[in-house]
Amino acid sequence: MEQGYKTVRTVCPYCGAGCHIALTVDTVHNRIVKATGANGRTNEGRLCLKGYYGWDYLTDPQLLTKRLRYPMIRKGGKGSPLERVSWEEAIQYTAERLQAIIKEYGPDAVMGAGSARGPGNEAGYITQKFMRACIGTNNVDHCARICHAASVTGLRASIGEGAMSVSVPEIEDAEVIFNIGYNAATSHPIVARRVVKAKAKGAKIICVDPQITETARIADIHLQIKGGTNLALLNAMAYTMIEEGLVDEAFVKAHTEGFEDYANALGGYAPEAMASIIGVPAEMIRRAARLFASSKHTVTLWGMGITQFAQGVDSVIACSNLSLLTGNYGHRVTGVGPVRGQNNVQGTCDMGVLPDVYPGYQRVDDPKARAKFEKAWGVTLPATPGLPLTLVPEKILRETDPKKQIHAYYIVGEDPAQSDPDLTEIREALSACDFVVIQDIFMNKTAEFADVVLPATAWGEHDAVYSSCDRGFQRVRKAIEPVGEAWPDWKIQCAVATAMGYPMSYTSTQEIWDEMRSLSPKFYGATYEKMEALGGVQWPCVDPSMEDRGTEYLHEGGTFATENGKGRLLFAPYKPVHEEVDSEYPLSLCTVREVGHYSVRTMTGNCRMLSKLEDEPGWIAMNPADCKRLGITTGDLVYVHSRRGKTITRCLATERAKEGATYMTYQWWVGACNELTIGMLDPKSRTPEYKYCAVRVEAIADQ
Ligand code: SF4
Repeated sequence: MEQGYKTVRTVCPYCGAGCHIALTVDTVHNRIVKATGANGRTNEGRLCLKGYYGWDYLTDPQLLTKRLRYPMIRKGGKGSPLERVSWEEAIQYTAERLQAIIKEYGPDAVMGAGSARGPGNEAGYITQKFMRACIGTNNVDHCARICHAASVTGLRASIGEGAMSVSVPEIEDAEVIFNIGYNAATSHPIVARRVVKAKAKGAKIICVDPQITETARIADIHLQIKGGTNLALLNAMAYTMIEEGLVDEAFVKAHTEGFEDYANALGGYAPEAMASIIGVPAEMIRRAARLFASSKHTVTLWGMGITQFAQGVDSVIACSNLSLLTGNYGHRVTGVGPVRGQNNVQGTCDMGVLPDVYPGYQRVDDPKARAKFEKAWGVTLPATPGLPLTLVPEKILRETDPKKQIHAYYIVGEDPAQSDPDLTEIREALSACDFVVIQDIFMNKTAEFADVVLPATAWGEHDAVYSSCDRGFQRVRKAIEPVGEAWPDWKIQCAVATAMGYPMSYTSTQEIWDEMRSLSPKFYGATYEKMEALGGVQWPCVDPSMEDRGTEYLHEGGTFATENGKGRLLFAPYKPVHEEVDSEYPLSLCTVREVGHYSVRTMTGNCRMLSKLEDEPGWIAMNPADCKRLGITTGDLVYVHSRRGKTITRCLATERAKEGATYMTYQWWVGACNELTIGMLDPKSRTPEYKYCAVRVEAIADQ
């Protein structure tokens, strides 16, 4: 390498595929000049466009001017301008405001949101420790709540463990792939590559999606169901398996419980009875069930097309039921893949940035676990689970007892004013909240309501560990010096905790990691040294010696992580979506993703290369027949209305959209589809029904 340059091996910050990247860094000018694929376990040297081009905001001089560079406070209160202050003043002010709120209303008046993006696992550990040990509440959560919380809740109920049981590399060896509510090509292009490889090796693919996705195009069976009917379909497939004798009876007998009750409850779900609800012929449902059951190497993949419904948890359980019925658990190349979206959403769950669990999924209401953390952290910890973040608006706007309201919201690396459903309500809640702290790398929509804005280092500017979607801990390395006065997220929250009288101090991310490992048996063996030597370690990994190289797939031999080791066959009846279309709002809206962008675009929206590919005001994908009826065509500006709001975007006429259905990404700042979405929540996971609400599209005259 030429003098003045170095290569830094790290992990892409853009999705749970966890691709390894080699960054070429100009050390003289402190800038990244190139990214190429490195040979990671999941990516084999490949990257998608975000990995190759998604980093110029870190080094482009013009883009750098947009970064948050120093702490700011609204000294004149809500509505006044943000003013630059020193770190010392910002930390002291934040600590004092939080202490005053705790004194008046108690610790449960404070809500904390961690980040599933750049900060990494060590920062996540610090966020939940800060909330629990310093503030004194379990009110800590993160964006898994609005994406895969239903997977965690559902799989824990079914098989005792909420993560992918299968690994990304195994996908290409599947004989059957059951792909439901998951568009790998836009969510995880490098996972999509494994699906394509599996097809090339002879795998059969069943794709369940109202859209004609890239996976649907190569599928052997595409069930283009009516939006919101996942559970009806899954129950009909289970019915077929039982009725046609496709069940693996030996597996069910040895490794599951509840079969009799489950089979009886499915009585009304014959495909012939459900076909008109689901919107596909009964024989196609039966064919899909037969194909699923035909192999012991059937891999089920799902995304938010399963979880972002008010019946998300029940649908996750129903997916798992199909694998339990057919013996598709417990050996290599089988099982379930709830493929986590954001780069570190798996990790942020692993670290216990959730209201009900400590790091390593140890429950806060388990006295033994709580006693362990109390001893380690030197405090008394709250015994009851905290608040999921989707209930924050309700706790600010509709809770009448001030002692039960949320008065402070400390948000790390998230933007609820863009990402959460029904943005009108979110803005009202943020306006009404007494004290809002934002810790991020760029200004975002939520910062408009912030009393304090704290600048954090971005990916590339700090060390960390991320967890890939398939439980893989991988090292993320600092490549360049941070911009301005930005601090790593973990350092900021340690400083606030210390100012509040609960000293938290670490000299490195490794020190934080080692503390976390010492308290989390499932992760204890995953040392920095082992990650360094192996390129990554999949949990569970319990022994620090090199003998334990981690776990490729879960539930070996059909022994599940439930109390008695058995998988539970649990039935739930299908219920229609909350807001059906009608004459006033005749089209359904489903939120999706744009492949060149990530999450709420805090990073990619400030990236020159990726914004060139697709930028505001975005689009609403509609079937040409619907466009014709409305007299609009691709490129036309339109208003989209729902009962909650209105937004502007451009029409994209495409056969990929099912007639009567529309699709928008939640990523555009102008054409924000969450102005339209509904805050209806799954009662168990509290995940919103982003995937279905009723809208009306209206052409804008004189464009
Ligand atoms: Fe990054 Fe995901 Fe693309 Fe891999 S697939 S390069 S992790 S965005």
